[in-house]
Amino acid sequence: MLQKYRPWMSALARTFAQRLLPSDCQMCGISNSAALCDACVIRLVDTRASRCTQCGLTLMSSAPTETICGACQSEPPAFDQTLVVTDYAPPIDSLVQDLKFRAQLPLASAFGHMLIRAAGASFQAADVLLPVPLSRERLAQRGFNQAVEIARPLARAWHKPLIIDSCVRTRDTSAQAALSLTQRRVNMRGAFAVRDRRVIDHRHIVVIDDVMTTGHTLRELAACLKRHGAARVSNLVLARTPTR
Ligand SMILES: [Zn+2]
Ligand SMILES: [Zn+2]
Repeated sequence: MLQKYRPWMSALARTFAQRLLPSDCQMCGISNSAALCDACVIRLVDTRASRCTQCGLTLMSSAPTETICGACQSEPPAFDQTLVVTDYAPPIDSLVQDLKFRAQLPLASAFGHMLIRAAGASFQAADVLLPVPLSRERLAQRGFNQAVEIARPLARAWHKPLIIDSCVRTRDTSAQAALSLTQRRVNMRGAFAVRDRRVIDHRHIVVIDDVMTTGHTLRELAACLKRHGAARVSNLVLARTPTR
């Protein structure tokens, strides 16, 4: 029993230690109370790239009228909108890994502030925030869900509720790297379940995640939310791999 809770306890102990100790900006090293200083947050939020408004992929065409990529036009995903803060590339990739695999939890709050900055007023009309759920096994192993930690500052800043337990991940599907695109799509089917439809039905839901790779996870989650009555699903993602 104790074994099961050990990652949680060590993650909690680390969080307390990290909040008590003064920290420096992990990018530029200046003395700072948060994991990233304001100047680095501004520098890391990349709003120059012209991205597909539906899937967040960088648009190949420089035509200013084109806002939706060819892939979304020919096979529209279940989500309506995706806002990506930056590419999943140096230096963000190693910072994300520090958060996930070395439990550098103050980074989650810094990432949350990057999302707030990138989103501006885009999601004022949204009803709820839904951090992408982890499977029970993955949550027990890691001790925290990085998407939940990233979403907390947004929920506070925007005064919007966080959906944590009403939508669950029924199985772990993140080890998809070795699979083909078709296999990945099949592998994702039925990966999410809604436990309380009332928080989903007729709502504009903003799904929060740290990294978007192929987009299959977010497609499947959005399809599940739409089946349960969601009016609109928008993704707000910290980093996206530059190619599908
Ligand atoms: Zn800095
Ligand atoms: Zn697209």
